[in-house]
Amino acid sequence: MSNRAWVTLATNDSYGLGALVLAHSLRRANSSYQAVVLITPSVTDAMRERLRAVFADVVTVDVLDSRDAAHLALLQRPELGITFTKIHCWSLTQYEKCVFLDADTLVIQNCDELFEREELSAAPDVGWPDCFNSGVFVFKPSNETFDKLIKFAQERGSFDGGDQGLLNSFFSDWAHGDINKHLPFLYNVTSAAFYSYLPALKHYGQDLKIIHFIGIAKPWLQQFNWESRTVDAPDHIKGLLQLWWDLFVGQVHPQLDVTMSGVAGN
Ligand code: UDP
Ligand code: MN
Repeated sequence: MSNRAWVTLATNDSYGLGALVLAHSLRRANSSYQAVVLITPSVTDAMRERLRAVFADVVTVDVLDSRDAAHLALLQRPELGITFTKIHCWSLTQYEKCVFLDADTLVIQNCDELFEREELSAAPDVGWPDCFNSGVFVFKPSNETFDKLIKFAQERGSFDGGDQGLLNSFFSDWAHGDINKHLPFLYNVTSAAFYSYLPALKHYGQDLKIIHFIGIAKPWLQQFNWESRTVDAPDHIKGLLQLWWDLFVGQVHPQLDVTMSGVAGN
């Protein structure tokens, strides 16, 4: 069991809050697997301490100093900084199998069965379903794959400027290859689905496994009423955002020091 891990990423304290809530959601879902967070030097000491309390491992990755290949590639394509940080997950070779989760995801139900899937398994992206969404994916850490990804990024870049474009080009057989690598949408329900196909959400919503708050409206940036302990959001997304906030208020906020509490809500 210890050779499998959930992996997330936080390059600053805001995403650190997301990572903390995500870790608590994994606990709440009784996952048997440990969680690991990749951070960069810009995460504060106070946040690192909080992350250490809930993650089995907090791994600092510094794209500029970590490996020569990454360093050189980054100098040529500075816009790929965050992307490069995410692909560092392939260098976690102490694990045999991992599932990457964006820090803006929330695990609603136990999803441990994901570890039975192979690299690279992911759910379709609602914007272009022949692409996978890179917020949730099953992967196998490997220095060889990491080096190939760096080289690929350096030579080809990313068609969307981020990790999703890069990973879709690299794992280009996903769209037409092994259907077992297509995760059901329930494992990465992006908030855009609420606007585009509400009846389906109502019909299948009770089986929802992982919610992904894509876009700029991150849960920690929402208006939160501390008196009523309710989040202020449109009805269709309110319930899921409330789940995020319930975990934040119950598990995360009491552990934060005064300076950090100001990062979320109002
Ligand atoms: N991320 C980060 N710092 C940033 C931006 C992104 O740590 O400034 C990480 C974080 O894990 C985040 C992921 O990269 O969840 C992908 O970015 P985001 O979720 O904002 O993209 P979206 O899912 O909205 O396309
Ligand atoms: Mn995301």
